[in-house]
Amino acid sequence: MQATFFDAQRMGISDSVELTARSLQAHGVRHRHWAIAYSGGKDSTTLLTVVMHLLKTGAVERPERLTVCYADTRMELPPLAASASRMLGTLRAEGVEVRVALPPMDERFFVYMLGRGVPPPTNHFRWCTGQIKVEPMEAALREMYAGEKILMLTGVRQGESAARDGRIAMSCGKDGAECGQGWYQETLPDHLCDTLAPILHWRTCLVWDWLTGAMPAELRHGYETRLVAEAYGLDEEGSVAEKNARTGCNGCPLASQDAALDNLLKSPRWGYLRPLKKLRPLYRWLREPTQRLRKPGFERSKAGVVRHTNRMGPLTMDARRTALREVLAIQARVNEYAGDMPAVDMLDELEVARIEELIEAGTWPNRWTGDEPTGDQPFERVHRDGSLQREMFGG
Ligand code: SF4
Repeated sequence: MQATFFDAQRMGISDSVELTARSLQAHGVRHRHWAIAYSGGKDSTTLLTVVMHLLKTGAVERPERLTVCYADTRMELPPLAASASRMLGTLRAEGVEVRVALPPMDERFFVYMLGRGVPPPTNHFRWCTGQIKVEPMEAALREMYAGEKILMLTGVRQGESAARDGRIAMSCGKDGAECGQGWYQETLPDHLCDTLAPILHWRTCLVWDWLTGAMPAELRHGYETRLVAEAYGLDEEGSVAEKNARTGCNGCPLASQDAALDNLLKSPRWGYLRPLKKLRPLYRWLREPTQRLRKPGFERSKAGVVRHTNRMGPLTMDARRTALREVLAIQARVNEYAGDMPAVDMLDELEVARIEELIEAGTWPNRWTGDEPTGDQPFERVHRDGSLQREMFGG
């Protein structure tokens, strides 16, 4: 009897691959152009290599056009960035069309933060995911669209997370999920593409079997996936310490800890990445009132409602310059000791030049002029009855 999605909890790797093949065959025939969404993390690497394996072995018929879309946030952990770069090189050498979805210069993480002055993202103001992950992929999709819906393949799995079971789309950093994993279902415009998650039924242990080569000989895909496994703590014995560790941007300010980086640092091979641990304290420092402007007083909304607006705003120019120096120092320190290990590339020369240009031009986020007081200045709260109260740190 053939396996179904409902058998996923007891399915082995061969059945899982077969079900993936059937899912691709069933839905793929309606589309001439397939695109594979690839972020470099464990699930999308599994998706990519399983699909390539099935196409190469002839188990699934090739579409007329196949594009691998890599979401390059410029912020990936070095082993994942290096692994993705090698994977894309291999695919290009195999004649596969590769497209790199890169945020526009002014939207990139550090350029937006240090050039425009927008403070590091928080759970209440998460500007990063859309800007560095979702929108570049959307733009790539629009560029590829030639009047016929594309079939977008994603590495979303209906794994152990109950949050995912209810609504497959998910947000960064929750339930061990990789940041941005659910971008596709959440936001990609459905008139440009249909979506398919052909490894939806794969359990985490099977993903690791696939990535570490623990599978029957006929399923060996031959792609280099060891660096991905290392990012999740692959040890000398070949077991993976944190099978569901979250990976995301270097020093993600929204994560409660640097789980993936901490795993890596347990191995002396990756010890040179330790300076990256300074990123999160830097973000915390940037959020302090002294490094921010504050807008005191009242604001009238379009509907005429008057609001009290003693709120913390953008980063001061001094804070931006200091943070830029610090990020460059962290990057230089890592790369000084990288040797033949993957270097970190969070800020290149063009990005640094653009940040400096924006600072030089006195760039502030919309509705801020730079004349506002800093957040550590006492301010006067005006009550409805007209009385004044001196306070510190408007929130
Ligand atoms: S990993 Fe963190 S910093 Fe990166 S996009 Fe997700 S929430 Fe933002």
